[in-house]
Amino acid sequence: MRLSRFYAPTLKEVPAEAEVISHKLLLRAGMIRKLTSGIYTYLPLGLKILNKVADICRAEMNRAGAQEILMPSVQPADLWRETGRWEYYGKELLRFADRHGRDYCLGPTHEEVVTDLVRGEVRSYRQLPLNLYQVQTKFRDEIRPRFGLMRGREFVMKDAYSFDKDEAGADKSYWDMYHAYDRTFRRLGLMFRAVEADSGAIGGNFSHEFMVLAETGEDTIAACTACAYAANLERAEVMDATPSSDKPSGEACGCGALAEVSTPGKHTVEEVCAFLKIPAARLIKTLLYDVDGQAVAALVRGDREMNEVKLKNRLNATTVTLATPEQVKAWTSAEVGFAGPVRGMLSVTRILADNELKHGDAWVTGANKTDAHYTNVSLSRDCGANIEFGDLRVIAATDPCPRCGGGIEFKRGIEVGHVFKLGLKYSQTMNAKFLDENGREQFMIMGCYGIGVSRIVAAAIEQNHDENGIIWPPAIAPFEVVVMSLGGKEPEVAAKAEELYLAMIEAGIEAALDDRDERPGVKFKDADLVGYPMQIVVGGKGLANGIVEAKDRRTGVKTELPVADFAAAFAAWRKDVHGGWGA
Ligand code: ATP
Ligand code: MG
Repeated sequence: MRLSRFYAPTLKEVPAEAEVISHKLLLRAGMIRKLTSGIYTYLPLGLKILNKVADICRAEMNRAGAQEILMPSVQPADLWRETGRWEYYGKELLRFADRHGRDYCLGPTHEEVVTDLVRGEVRSYRQLPLNLYQVQTKFRDEIRPRFGLMRGREFVMKDAYSFDKDEAGADKSYWDMYHAYDRTFRRLGLMFRAVEADSGAIGGNFSHEFMVLAETGEDTIAACTACAYAANLERAEVMDATPSSDKPSGEACGCGALAEVSTPGKHTVEEVCAFLKIPAARLIKTLLYDVDGQAVAALVRGDREMNEVKLKNRLNATTVTLATPEQVKAWTSAEVGFAGPVRGMLSVTRILADNELKHGDAWVTGANKTDAHYTNVSLSRDCGANIEFGDLRVIAATDPCPRCGGGIEFKRGIEVGHVFKLGLKYSQTMNAKFLDENGREQFMIMGCYGIGVSRIVAAAIEQNHDENGIIWPPAIAPFEVVVMSLGGKEPEVAAKAEELYLAMIEAGIEAALDDRDERPGVKFKDADLVGYPMQIVVGGKGLANGIVEAKDRRTGVKTELPVADFAAAFAAWRKDVHGGWGA
Protein backbone atom coordinates (compact mmCIF):
# COMPACT_ATOMS: atom_id res chain seq x y z
CA MET A 1 0.00 0.00 0.00
CA ARG A 2 1.27 3.44 -0.95
CA LEU A 3 0.60 5.82 1.90
CA SER A 4 0.24 8.74 -0.53
CA ARG A 5 -3.05 7.15 -1.60
CA PHE A 6 -4.08 5.72 1.75
CA TYR A 7 -6.97 6.96 3.86
CA ALA A 8 -5.43 7.18 7.33
CA PRO A 9 -6.02 10.70 8.61
CA THR A 10 -3.75 11.14 11.64
CA LEU A 11 -4.48 13.66 14.39
CA LYS A 12 -1.92 15.77 16.22
CA GLU A 13 -4.21 16.62 19.11
CA VAL A 14 -5.48 14.01 21.53
CA PRO A 15 -9.29 14.07 21.36
CA ALA A 16 -10.71 15.23 24.68
CA GLU A 17 -13.25 12.42 25.00
CA ALA A 18 -10.60 9.68 24.89
CA GLU A 19 -9.58 8.62 28.40
CA VAL A 20 -7.45 5.53 27.82
CA ILE A 21 -4.35 5.19 25.69
CA SER A 22 -5.79 2.67 23.22
CA HIS A 23 -8.70 4.95 22.42
CA LYS A 24 -6.40 7.97 22.01
CA LEU A 25 -3.97 6.12 19.76
CA LEU A 26 -6.67 4.47 17.62
CA LEU A 27 -8.13 7.91 16.94
CA ARG A 28 -4.78 9.68 16.47
CA ALA A 29 -3.45 7.04 14.08
CA GLY A 30 -6.58 7.31 11.94
CA MET A 31 -7.77 3.76 12.62
CA ILE A 32 -11.29 4.42 13.91
CA ARG A 33 -13.76 7.29 14.05
CA LYS A 34 -16.75 7.63 16.32
CA LEU A 35 -20.17 7.78 14.73
CA THR A 36 -22.07 8.12 17.99
CA SER A 37 -21.71 6.94 21.58
CA GLY A 38 -20.09 3.49 21.65
CA ILE A 39 -20.38 3.07 17.85
CA TYR A 40 -17.34 3.33 15.58
CA THR A 41 -16.35 3.17 11.94
CA TYR A 42 -13.18 1.22 11.14
CA LEU A 43 -10.94 3.05 8.69
CA PRO A 44 -8.63 1.02 6.42
CA LEU A 45 -5.89 0.55 9.03
CA GLY A 46 -8.35 -0.30 11.80
CA LEU A 47 -10.22 -2.77 9.63
CA LYS A 48 -7.01 -4.53 8.62
CA ILE A 49 -6.18 -5.12 12.29
CA LEU A 50 -9.71 -6.22 13.12
CA ASN A 51 -9.67 -8.69 10.22
CA LYS A 52 -6.33 -10.12 11.28
CA VAL A 53 -7.61 -10.76 14.78
CA ALA A 54 -10.77 -12.33 13.38
CA ASP A 55 -8.82 -14.54 10.98
CA ILE A 56 -6.62 -15.93 13.74
CA CYS A 57 -9.78 -16.69 15.72
CA ARG A 58 -11.25 -18.41 12.67
CA ALA A 59 -8.13 -20.47 12.01
CA GLU A 60 -8.10 -21.82 15.57
CA MET A 61 -11.86 -22.44 15.61
CA ASN A 62 -11.62 -24.38 12.35
CA ARG A 63 -8.66 -26.32 13.64
CA ALA A 64 -10.69 -27.31 16.71
CA GLY A 65 -13.47 -28.61 14.46
CA ALA A 66 -15.94 -25.75 14.81
CA GLN A 67 -17.79 -24.64 11.67
CA GLU A 68 -18.38 -21.05 10.66
CA ILE A 69 -21.88 -19.73 10.08
CA LEU A 70 -23.30 -16.22 10.09
CA MET A 71 -26.44 -15.46 12.04
CA PRO A 72 -28.53 -12.30 11.73
CA SER A 73 -28.19 -9.36 14.09
CA VAL A 74 -31.95 -8.78 14.17
CA GLN A 75 -33.66 -11.40 16.33
CA PRO A 76 -37.37 -11.96 16.94
CA ALA A 77 -38.63 -11.35 20.48
CA ASP A 78 -40.53 -14.65 20.46
CA LEU A 79 -37.31 -16.65 20.73
CA TRP A 80 -36.23 -14.55 23.69
CA ARG A 81 -39.64 -15.07 25.28
CA GLU A 82 -39.11 -18.82 25.12
CA THR A 83 -36.04 -18.59 27.32
CA GLY A 84 -37.48 -15.85 29.52
CA ARG A 85 -34.66 -13.52 28.58
CA TRP A 86 -36.98 -10.99 26.91
CA GLU A 87 -37.97 -9.97 30.46
CA TYR A 88 -34.75 -10.85 32.22
CA TYR A 89 -32.05 -9.32 30.01
CA GLY A 90 -32.73 -5.72 30.96
CA LYS A 91 -31.87 -2.51 29.21
CA GLU A 92 -28.75 -3.75 27.42
CA LEU A 93 -31.15 -5.41 24.99
CA LEU A 94 -32.13 -2.92 22.32
CA ARG A 95 -35.75 -3.66 21.45
CA PHE A 96 -37.88 -2.34 18.63
CA ALA A 97 -40.98 -3.18 16.61
CA ASP A 98 -41.42 -3.58 12.87
CA ARG A 99 -44.24 -2.06 10.80
CA HIS A 100 -46.55 -4.89 11.80
CA GLY A 101 -45.96 -4.23 15.48
CA ARG A 102 -43.89 -7.40 15.98
CA ASP A 103 -41.11 -7.12 18.55
CA TYR A 104 -37.44 -7.61 17.75
CA CYS A 105 -34.08 -6.98 19.33
CA LEU A 106 -30.54 -6.42 18.14
CA GLY A 107 -28.59 -9.51 19.15
CA PRO A 108 -26.27 -9.03 22.14
CA THR A 109 -25.49 -12.77 21.96
CA HIS A 110 -26.91 -15.71 19.98
CA GLU A 111 -27.86 -18.62 22.24
CA GLU A 112 -31.53 -18.40 21.27
CA VAL A 113 -30.90 -18.15 17.53
CA VAL A 114 -28.36 -20.96 17.39
CA THR A 115 -30.49 -23.26 19.55
CA ASP A 116 -33.45 -22.56 17.28
CA LEU A 117 -31.29 -23.40 14.28
CA VAL A 118 -30.16 -26.72 15.69
CA ARG A 119 -33.34 -27.98 17.35
CA GLY A 120 -35.16 -28.18 14.08
CA GLU A 121 -32.53 -30.30 12.36
CA VAL A 122 -30.46 -32.34 14.76
CA ARG A 123 -32.48 -35.40 15.70
CA SER A 124 -30.00 -38.15 16.41
CA TYR A 125 -26.97 -38.65 18.65
CA ARG A 126 -25.12 -39.45 15.42
CA GLN A 127 -25.26 -35.77 14.45
CA LEU A 128 -23.53 -34.75 17.70
CA PRO A 129 -21.19 -33.24 18.79
CA LEU A 130 -21.65 -30.04 16.86
CA ASN A 131 -19.89 -26.72 17.27
CA LEU A 132 -21.01 -23.68 15.28
CA TYR A 133 -19.35 -20.29 15.40
CA GLN A 134 -19.51 -16.89 13.78
CA VAL A 135 -17.69 -13.59 13.70
CA GLN A 136 -20.47 -11.09 13.96
CA THR A 137 -21.48 -7.63 15.10
CA LYS A 138 -23.19 -7.55 18.48
CA PHE A 139 -25.21 -4.78 20.00
CA ARG A 140 -25.43 -4.18 23.73
CA ASP A 141 -26.88 -0.93 24.95
CA GLU A 142 -24.19 -0.64 27.63
CA ILE A 143 -25.02 1.77 30.42
CA ARG A 144 -21.56 3.36 30.15
CA PRO A 145 -19.99 2.79 26.76
CA ARG A 146 -16.40 3.95 27.13
CA PHE A 147 -12.76 3.53 26.33
CA GLY A 148 -13.39 3.37 22.59
CA LEU A 149 -13.35 -0.20 21.29
CA MET A 150 -12.95 -1.57 24.81
CA ARG A 151 -16.59 -1.22 25.80
CA GLY A 152 -18.64 -0.27 22.79
CA ARG A 153 -22.35 -0.65 22.20
CA GLU A 154 -21.76 -2.12 18.75
CA PHE A 155 -18.78 -4.48 18.71
CA VAL A 156 -17.45 -7.54 16.94
CA MET A 157 -17.47 -10.89 18.71
CA LYS A 158 -16.45 -14.36 17.74
CA ASP A 159 -19.06 -16.56 19.37
CA ALA A 160 -19.18 -20.35 19.28
CA TYR A 161 -21.81 -22.74 20.59
CA SER A 162 -21.34 -26.44 21.23
CA PHE A 163 -23.98 -29.17 21.38
CA ASP A 164 -23.25 -32.56 22.92
CA LYS A 165 -25.07 -35.77 23.67
CA ASP A 166 -23.61 -36.39 27.13
CA GLU A 167 -21.61 -34.84 29.96
CA ALA A 168 -18.33 -36.41 28.88
CA GLY A 169 -18.77 -34.98 25.40
CA ALA A 170 -19.73 -31.57 26.75
CA ASP A 171 -16.65 -31.52 28.97
CA LYS A 172 -14.46 -32.40 26.01
CA SER A 173 -16.03 -29.66 23.90
CA TYR A 174 -15.35 -27.24 26.73
CA TRP A 175 -11.68 -28.13 27.07
CA ASP A 176 -11.21 -28.21 23.29
CA MET A 177 -12.40 -24.61 23.18
CA TYR A 178 -10.26 -23.71 26.19
CA HIS A 179 -7.19 -24.98 24.36
CA ALA A 180 -8.23 -23.32 21.10
CA TYR A 181 -8.45 -20.02 23.00
CA ASP A 182 -5.05 -20.60 24.54
CA ARG A 183 -3.59 -21.11 21.06
CA THR A 184 -5.48 -18.09 19.70
CA PHE A 185 -4.10 -15.67 22.26
CA ARG A 186 -0.58 -17.06 21.88
CA ARG A 187 -0.78 -16.53 18.13
CA LEU A 188 -2.06 -13.02 18.60
CA GLY A 189 1.20 -12.33 20.42
CA LEU A 190 -0.43 -11.12 23.62
CA MET A 191 0.50 -11.70 27.26
CA PHE A 192 -2.57 -13.25 28.81
CA ARG A 193 -3.81 -15.48 31.55
CA ALA A 194 -6.76 -17.89 31.63
CA VAL A 195 -8.52 -17.40 34.94
CA GLU A 196 -11.26 -19.32 36.68
CA ALA A 197 -14.54 -17.44 36.59
CA ASP A 198 -17.88 -17.92 38.28
CA SER A 199 -19.85 -20.71 36.66
CA GLY A 200 -23.02 -20.01 38.63
CA ALA A 201 -25.55 -22.79 38.66
CA ILE A 202 -23.36 -25.14 36.58
CA GLY A 203 -20.74 -25.27 39.31
CA GLY A 204 -17.43 -27.03 38.87
CA ASN A 205 -14.56 -25.63 36.91
CA PHE A 206 -16.46 -24.77 33.76
CA SER A 207 -16.03 -21.08 33.24
CA HIS A 208 -12.76 -19.40 32.35
CA GLU A 209 -12.07 -15.88 31.28
CA PHE A 210 -9.06 -15.04 29.15
CA MET A 211 -7.47 -11.85 30.35
CA VAL A 212 -4.96 -9.73 28.50
CA LEU A 213 -2.65 -8.44 31.21
CA ALA A 214 -2.43 -4.66 31.28
CA GLU A 215 -2.17 -2.19 34.12
CA THR A 216 -5.12 -0.29 32.74
CA GLY A 217 -7.39 -3.36 32.80
CA GLU A 218 -10.82 -3.02 34.42
CA ASP A 219 -10.68 -6.48 36.00
CA THR A 220 -8.62 -7.72 38.90
CA ILE A 221 -7.13 -11.20 38.87
CA ALA A 222 -5.91 -13.09 41.91
CA ALA A 223 -2.95 -15.15 40.74
CA CYS A 224 -0.70 -17.50 42.70
CA THR A 225 2.98 -16.61 42.69
CA ALA A 226 3.95 -20.28 43.02
CA CYS A 227 1.47 -22.40 41.02
CA ALA A 228 -0.76 -21.89 37.97
CA TYR A 229 -3.86 -20.92 39.96
CA ALA A 230 -5.53 -17.74 38.78
CA ALA A 231 -9.10 -16.60 39.22
CA ASN A 232 -11.08 -13.45 38.84
CA LEU A 233 -11.96 -11.74 42.09
CA GLU A 234 -15.56 -12.84 42.27
CA ARG A 235 -14.52 -16.46 41.91
CA ALA A 236 -11.20 -16.69 43.82
CA GLU A 237 -11.60 -19.16 46.67
CA VAL A 238 -10.47 -18.37 50.18
CA MET A 239 -9.07 -21.29 52.15
CA ASP A 240 -10.99 -22.24 55.26
CA ALA A 241 -9.13 -22.09 58.58
CA THR A 242 -6.92 -19.37 57.23
CA PRO A 243 -4.64 -18.55 60.15
CA SER A 244 -5.25 -14.86 60.23
CA SER A 245 -2.27 -12.63 60.86
CA ASP A 246 -4.34 -9.85 62.30
CA LYS A 247 -7.00 -11.65 64.26
CA PRO A 248 -8.13 -10.19 67.56
CA SER A 249 -5.46 -10.53 70.18
CA GLY A 250 -5.69 -10.29 73.94
CA GLU A 251 -9.22 -11.35 74.71
CA ALA A 252 -9.31 -13.66 71.67
CA CYS A 253 -10.78 -16.61 73.56
CA GLY A 254 -13.24 -16.88 76.38
CA CYS A 255 -14.36 -13.33 76.03
CA GLY A 256 -16.08 -11.35 78.74
CA ALA A 257 -19.78 -10.69 79.08
CA LEU A 258 -21.75 -9.25 76.22
CA ALA A 259 -22.06 -5.51 76.65
CA GLU A 260 -24.02 -2.81 74.86
CA VAL A 261 -22.15 0.41 74.12
CA SER A 262 -23.47 3.68 72.83
CA THR A 263 -22.12 4.64 69.36
CA PRO A 264 -24.06 7.79 68.49
CA GLY A 265 -24.13 8.55 64.79
CA LYS A 266 -21.41 5.98 64.03
CA HIS A 267 -22.64 4.09 60.97
CA THR A 268 -19.63 2.95 59.05
CA VAL A 269 -16.93 0.45 60.00
CA GLU A 270 -14.38 3.31 60.03
CA GLU A 271 -16.53 5.49 62.27
CA VAL A 272 -17.31 2.73 64.78
CA CYS A 273 -13.72 1.48 64.93
CA ALA A 274 -12.30 4.98 65.36
CA PHE A 275 -14.85 5.70 68.09
CA LEU A 276 -14.23 2.44 69.98
CA LYS A 277 -10.49 2.54 69.19
CA ILE A 278 -10.41 -0.97 67.76
CA PRO A 279 -9.00 -2.30 64.47
CA ALA A 280 -11.54 -3.13 61.75
CA ALA A 281 -10.58 -6.80 62.10
CA ARG A 282 -12.36 -6.85 65.48
CA LEU A 283 -15.70 -5.83 64.05
CA ILE A 284 -18.29 -7.96 62.28
CA LYS A 285 -20.02 -6.24 59.38
CA THR A 286 -23.63 -7.38 59.10
CA LEU A 287 -25.01 -6.89 55.61
CA LEU A 288 -28.69 -7.36 54.92
CA TYR A 289 -29.86 -8.66 51.57
CA ASP A 290 -33.11 -9.20 49.79
CA VAL A 291 -32.58 -12.69 48.36
CA ASP A 292 -35.42 -13.56 45.99
CA GLY A 293 -37.78 -11.73 48.36
CA GLN A 294 -36.38 -13.22 51.59
CA ALA A 295 -34.45 -11.28 54.24
CA VAL A 296 -30.96 -12.69 54.69
CA ALA A 297 -28.07 -11.44 56.85
CA ALA A 298 -24.48 -12.03 55.76
CA LEU A 299 -21.54 -11.44 58.10
CA VAL A 300 -17.96 -10.66 57.24
CA ARG A 301 -15.03 -9.24 59.19
CA GLY A 302 -14.91 -5.43 59.22
CA ASP A 303 -11.75 -5.23 57.12
CA ARG A 304 -13.02 -7.67 54.49
CA GLU A 305 -15.27 -7.36 51.49
CA MET A 306 -18.43 -9.41 51.00
CA ASN A 307 -18.49 -11.38 47.74
CA GLU A 308 -22.06 -11.23 46.51
CA VAL A 309 -21.44 -13.80 43.78
CA LYS A 310 -20.34 -16.35 46.37
CA LEU A 311 -23.35 -15.45 48.50
CA LYS A 312 -25.69 -15.88 45.55
CA ASN A 313 -24.21 -19.27 44.66
CA ARG A 314 -24.26 -20.43 48.28
CA LEU A 315 -27.96 -19.56 48.51
CA ASN A 316 -28.69 -20.88 45.04
CA ALA A 317 -30.50 -17.61 44.45
CA THR A 318 -31.62 -15.77 41.35
CA THR A 319 -31.29 -12.22 42.66
CA VAL A 320 -29.35 -10.88 45.61
CA THR A 321 -29.76 -7.17 46.30
CA LEU A 322 -28.58 -5.12 49.23
CA ALA A 323 -31.55 -4.18 51.42
CA THR A 324 -32.91 -0.66 51.07
CA PRO A 325 -32.78 1.65 54.12
CA GLU A 326 -36.52 1.03 54.55
CA GLN A 327 -36.02 -2.74 54.56
CA VAL A 328 -33.15 -2.42 57.04
CA LYS A 329 -35.37 -0.42 59.34
CA ALA A 330 -38.22 -2.90 59.05
CA TRP A 331 -35.97 -5.90 59.62
CA THR A 332 -33.82 -4.53 62.50
CA SER A 333 -35.82 -1.63 63.97
CA ALA A 334 -32.65 0.45 63.50
CA GLU A 335 -31.12 2.81 60.99
CA VAL A 336 -28.57 1.51 58.49
CA GLY A 337 -25.26 0.77 60.21
CA PHE A 338 -26.44 -0.89 63.40
CA ALA A 339 -27.47 -4.39 62.32
CA GLY A 340 -26.00 -7.39 64.13
CA PRO A 341 -26.54 -11.12 64.62
CA VAL A 342 -27.08 -11.21 68.40
CA ARG A 343 -30.79 -10.64 68.71
CA GLY A 344 -33.53 -8.53 67.24
CA MET A 345 -33.10 -9.30 63.55
CA LEU A 346 -36.77 -9.61 62.79
CA SER A 347 -37.91 -11.36 59.64
CA VAL A 348 -34.34 -12.40 58.78
CA THR A 349 -34.69 -16.02 57.73
CA ARG A 350 -31.05 -17.02 57.40
CA ILE A 351 -27.78 -15.77 58.83
CA LEU A 352 -24.63 -16.66 56.91
CA ALA A 353 -21.12 -15.89 58.09
CA ASP A 354 -17.77 -15.98 56.38
CA ASN A 355 -15.55 -18.90 57.49
CA GLU A 356 -13.04 -16.53 59.00
CA LEU A 357 -15.51 -15.60 61.73
CA LYS A 358 -15.19 -19.12 63.14
CA HIS A 359 -11.71 -18.26 64.28
CA GLY A 360 -12.12 -15.26 66.54
CA ASP A 361 -14.14 -14.09 69.49
CA ALA A 362 -14.92 -10.91 71.38
CA TRP A 363 -16.30 -9.24 68.31
CA VAL A 364 -18.01 -5.91 68.01
CA THR A 365 -21.35 -5.99 66.18
CA GLY A 366 -24.37 -3.76 65.69
CA ALA A 367 -27.07 -4.05 68.37
CA ASN A 368 -30.11 -3.70 66.08
CA LYS A 369 -30.78 -0.43 67.80
CA THR A 370 -29.94 2.98 66.36
CA ASP A 371 -26.72 4.40 67.89
CA ALA A 372 -25.74 1.18 69.71
CA HIS A 373 -23.27 -1.69 69.28
CA TYR A 374 -22.39 -4.78 71.29
CA THR A 375 -18.89 -5.64 72.40
CA ASN A 376 -17.57 -9.03 73.56
CA VAL A 377 -19.78 -10.87 71.10
CA SER A 378 -19.18 -14.60 70.77
CA LEU A 379 -21.02 -15.97 67.75
CA SER A 380 -21.38 -19.41 69.30
CA ARG A 381 -22.45 -18.14 72.72
CA ASP A 382 -24.62 -15.16 71.78
CA CYS A 383 -26.15 -15.92 68.43
CA GLY A 384 -27.58 -19.40 68.73
CA ALA A 385 -26.80 -22.32 66.50
CA ASN A 386 -28.40 -21.06 63.32
CA ILE A 387 -25.39 -19.39 61.75
CA GLU A 388 -24.25 -21.04 58.51
CA PHE A 389 -20.55 -20.66 57.76
CA GLY A 390 -19.05 -20.60 54.29
CA ASP A 391 -16.60 -18.93 51.94
CA LEU A 392 -18.30 -15.59 51.40
CA ARG A 393 -15.63 -12.96 51.14
CA VAL A 394 -13.40 -11.50 48.47
CA ILE A 395 -9.86 -12.87 48.60
CA ALA A 396 -7.20 -10.49 49.97
CA ALA A 397 -3.57 -10.17 48.93
CA THR A 398 -2.54 -11.56 52.34
CA ASP A 399 -4.50 -14.81 51.80
CA PRO A 400 -2.72 -17.98 50.73
CA CYS A 401 -3.35 -19.64 47.37
CA PRO A 402 -6.33 -22.00 47.74
CA ARG A 403 -4.49 -24.70 45.76
CA CYS A 404 -0.91 -24.72 47.01
CA GLY A 405 -0.78 -22.32 49.94
CA GLY A 406 1.63 -20.03 48.08
CA GLY A 407 1.33 -16.26 47.88
CA ILE A 408 -1.40 -14.41 46.03
CA GLU A 409 -0.77 -11.35 43.91
CA PHE A 410 -3.28 -9.12 42.22
CA LYS A 411 -2.91 -8.30 38.55
CA ARG A 412 -4.99 -6.13 36.26
CA GLY A 413 -6.50 -7.61 33.14
CA ILE A 414 -8.86 -6.97 30.24
CA GLU A 415 -11.40 -9.73 29.58
CA VAL A 416 -11.00 -10.70 25.94
CA GLY A 417 -12.52 -14.16 25.96
CA HIS A 418 -14.90 -16.29 27.95
CA VAL A 419 -15.59 -20.03 27.77
CA PHE A 420 -18.67 -21.26 29.58
CA LYS A 421 -20.54 -24.50 30.03
CA LEU A 422 -24.24 -23.82 29.67
CA GLY A 423 -25.56 -27.30 30.43
CA LEU A 424 -29.27 -27.64 29.70
CA LYS A 425 -30.22 -24.00 30.27
CA TYR A 426 -31.21 -23.27 26.66
CA SER A 427 -31.95 -26.75 25.37
CA GLN A 428 -34.55 -27.29 28.09
CA THR A 429 -36.36 -23.98 27.72
CA MET A 430 -36.23 -24.24 23.92
CA ASN A 431 -36.84 -27.96 23.74
CA ALA A 432 -33.70 -28.90 21.82
CA LYS A 433 -33.76 -32.70 21.95
CA PHE A 434 -32.23 -35.66 20.17
CA LEU A 435 -32.68 -39.42 20.25
CA ASP A 436 -29.89 -41.23 22.10
CA GLU A 437 -28.42 -44.69 21.35
CA ASN A 438 -31.42 -46.30 23.07
CA GLY A 439 -33.96 -44.29 21.13
CA ARG A 440 -34.74 -42.12 24.16
CA GLU A 441 -35.22 -38.36 23.92
CA GLN A 442 -32.54 -36.31 25.65
CA PHE A 443 -31.75 -32.62 25.88
CA MET A 444 -28.56 -31.46 24.20
CA ILE A 445 -25.83 -30.20 26.51
CA MET A 446 -24.52 -26.84 25.43
CA GLY A 447 -21.51 -24.60 25.87
CA CYS A 448 -20.83 -21.07 24.67
CA TYR A 449 -17.52 -19.44 23.91
CA GLY A 450 -16.94 -15.76 23.13
CA ILE A 451 -13.96 -13.71 22.05
CA GLY A 452 -14.12 -9.91 21.96
CA VAL A 453 -12.56 -9.41 18.53
CA SER A 454 -12.81 -5.62 18.52
CA ARG A 455 -11.90 -5.40 22.22
CA ILE A 456 -8.67 -7.28 21.43
CA VAL A 457 -7.64 -4.46 19.10
CA ALA A 458 -7.83 -2.06 22.05
CA ALA A 459 -6.36 -4.53 24.56
CA ALA A 460 -3.34 -5.18 22.34
CA ILE A 461 -2.61 -1.46 22.39
CA GLU A 462 -3.11 -1.13 26.14
CA GLN A 463 -0.49 -3.83 26.54
CA ASN A 464 1.88 -2.68 23.78
CA HIS A 465 2.59 1.01 23.38
CA ASP A 466 5.07 3.69 24.38
CA GLU A 467 5.05 7.49 24.47
CA ASN A 468 5.41 7.61 20.67
CA GLY A 469 2.54 5.33 19.76
CA ILE A 470 1.43 1.77 19.16
CA ILE A 471 3.72 -1.29 19.02
CA TRP A 472 1.77 -3.98 17.19
CA PRO A 473 2.53 -7.65 17.69
CA PRO A 474 3.53 -8.67 14.12
CA ALA A 475 0.63 -11.14 13.85
CA ILE A 476 -1.99 -8.38 13.98
CA ALA A 477 -0.09 -5.34 12.69
CA PRO A 478 -1.96 -3.59 9.86
CA PHE A 479 1.29 -3.81 7.85
CA GLU A 480 4.31 -5.71 8.99
CA VAL A 481 6.78 -3.17 7.67
CA VAL A 482 6.84 0.39 6.40
CA VAL A 483 9.42 1.48 3.83
CA MET A 484 10.10 5.18 4.23
CA SER A 485 11.36 7.05 1.24
CA LEU A 486 13.33 10.10 2.47
CA GLY A 487 14.38 11.22 -0.96
CA GLY A 488 12.90 14.66 -1.24
CA LYS A 489 14.04 15.72 -4.64
CA GLU A 490 16.35 12.74 -5.30
CA PRO A 491 14.55 10.42 -7.72
CA GLU A 492 16.99 7.54 -7.19
CA VAL A 493 16.02 7.37 -3.49
CA ALA A 494 12.32 7.13 -4.32
CA ALA A 495 13.11 4.55 -6.99
CA LYS A 496 15.13 2.40 -4.55
CA ALA A 497 12.41 2.60 -1.88
CA GLU A 498 9.85 1.57 -4.47
CA GLU A 499 12.03 -1.32 -5.58
CA LEU A 500 12.49 -2.66 -2.03
CA TYR A 501 8.79 -2.25 -1.34
CA LEU A 502 7.77 -4.12 -4.50
CA ALA A 503 10.23 -6.91 -3.69
CA MET A 504 8.60 -7.34 -0.30
CA ILE A 505 5.11 -7.44 -1.79
CA GLU A 506 6.43 -9.99 -4.27
CA ALA A 507 7.76 -12.07 -1.36
CA GLY A 508 4.30 -12.03 0.28
CA ILE A 509 5.22 -9.58 3.05
CA GLU A 510 2.61 -7.02 3.93
CA ALA A 511 4.44 -3.76 3.39
CA ALA A 512 3.48 -0.10 3.23
CA LEU A 513 5.46 2.48 1.27
CA ASP A 514 5.62 5.96 2.76
CA ASP A 515 5.90 7.85 -0.51
CA ARG A 516 4.12 10.93 0.80
CA ASP A 517 5.54 14.34 0.12
CA GLU A 518 6.31 14.91 3.82
CA ARG A 519 9.38 15.84 5.86
CA PRO A 520 11.39 12.92 7.34
CA GLY A 521 10.34 13.98 10.86
CA VAL A 522 6.66 13.58 9.98
CA LYS A 523 7.24 10.16 8.45
CA PHE A 524 9.20 8.94 11.49
CA LYS A 525 6.54 10.22 13.88
CA ASP A 526 3.69 8.63 11.92
CA ALA A 527 5.52 5.32 11.59
CA ASP A 528 6.00 5.17 15.37
CA LEU A 529 2.40 6.25 15.97
CA VAL A 530 0.84 3.67 13.65
CA GLY A 531 3.10 1.01 15.14
CA TYR A 532 4.43 -1.02 12.19
CA PRO A 533 6.69 -3.61 13.85
CA MET A 534 9.46 -2.89 11.33
CA GLN A 535 10.63 0.33 9.73
CA ILE A 536 12.99 0.58 6.75
CA VAL A 537 14.48 4.00 6.08
CA VAL A 538 15.78 4.68 2.56
CA GLY A 539 17.80 7.89 2.35
CA GLY A 540 20.38 9.47 0.06
CA LYS A 541 23.29 9.23 2.51
CA GLY A 542 22.66 5.59 3.30
CA LEU A 543 22.33 4.63 -0.32
CA ALA A 544 25.65 6.35 -1.05
CA ASN A 545 27.15 3.97 1.52
CA GLY A 546 25.19 1.01 0.18
CA ILE A 547 22.87 0.61 3.20
CA VAL A 548 19.32 1.25 4.38
CA GLU A 549 18.42 1.63 8.04
CA ALA A 550 16.10 -0.83 9.75
CA LYS A 551 14.36 -0.12 13.07
CA ASP A 552 12.64 -2.61 15.35
CA ARG A 553 9.67 -0.65 16.67
CA ARG A 554 9.48 -2.63 19.93
CA THR A 555 13.11 -2.39 21.04
CA GLY A 556 13.99 0.77 19.12
CA VAL A 557 17.19 -0.97 18.01
CA LYS A 558 18.47 0.23 14.64
CA THR A 559 20.37 -2.00 12.22
CA GLU A 560 21.98 -1.31 8.86
CA LEU A 561 21.00 -3.63 6.03
CA PRO A 562 23.14 -3.82 2.87
CA VAL A 563 21.32 -2.80 -0.29
CA ALA A 564 23.36 -5.24 -2.34
CA ASP A 565 22.10 -8.28 -0.44
CA PHE A 566 18.88 -6.78 0.87
CA ALA A 567 16.52 -9.74 0.54
CA ALA A 568 18.64 -12.12 2.63
CA ALA A 569 19.62 -9.47 5.18
CA PHE A 570 16.00 -8.36 5.59
CA ALA A 571 14.77 -11.95 5.98
CA ALA A 572 17.28 -12.60 8.77
CA TRP A 573 16.46 -9.36 10.56
CA ARG A 574 12.71 -9.98 10.20
CA LYS A 575 13.15 -13.34 11.88
CA ASP A 576 14.89 -11.63 14.79
CA VAL A 577 12.12 -9.07 15.19
CA HIS A 578 9.44 -11.79 15.18
CA GLY A 579 11.48 -13.91 17.57
CA GLY A 580 11.46 -11.05 20.09
CA TRP A 581 7.69 -11.52 20.35
CA GLY A 582 8.12 -15.15 21.27
CA ALA A 583 5.64 -16.02 18.52
P1 ATP B 1 -17.96 -7.63 30.36
O1 ATP B 1 -17.93 -8.28 31.72
O2 ATP B 1 -16.67 -6.97 29.99
O3 ATP B 1 -19.16 -6.75 30.16
P2 ATP B 1 -19.32 -9.90 29.33
O4 ATP B 1 -19.10 -10.87 30.41
O5 ATP B 1 -20.60 -9.18 29.25
O6 ATP B 1 -18.13 -8.80 29.33
P3 ATP B 1 -19.47 -11.98 27.32
O7 ATP B 1 -20.93 -11.99 27.27
O8 ATP B 1 -18.75 -13.09 27.98
O9 ATP B 1 -18.98 -10.57 27.93
O10 ATP B 1 -18.92 -11.72 25.84
C1 ATP B 1 -17.77 -12.34 25.29
C2 ATP B 1 -16.67 -11.33 25.03
O11 ATP B 1 -17.14 -10.20 24.29
C3 ATP B 1 -16.09 -10.73 26.30
O12 ATP B 1 -15.11 -11.58 26.85
C4 ATP B 1 -15.51 -9.42 25.81
O13 ATP B 1 -14.20 -9.63 25.33
C5 ATP B 1 -16.40 -9.05 24.65
N1 ATP B 1 -17.32 -7.95 25.02
C6 ATP B 1 -18.37 -8.01 25.85
N2 ATP B 1 -18.99 -6.82 25.94
C7 ATP B 1 -18.30 -5.97 25.12
C8 ATP B 1 -18.44 -4.59 24.77
N3 ATP B 1 -19.43 -3.85 25.28
N4 ATP B 1 -17.55 -4.05 23.91
C9 ATP B 1 -16.56 -4.80 23.38
N5 ATP B 1 -16.38 -6.10 23.67
C10 ATP B 1 -17.23 -6.69 24.53
MG1 MG C 1 -17.85 -12.58 30.62
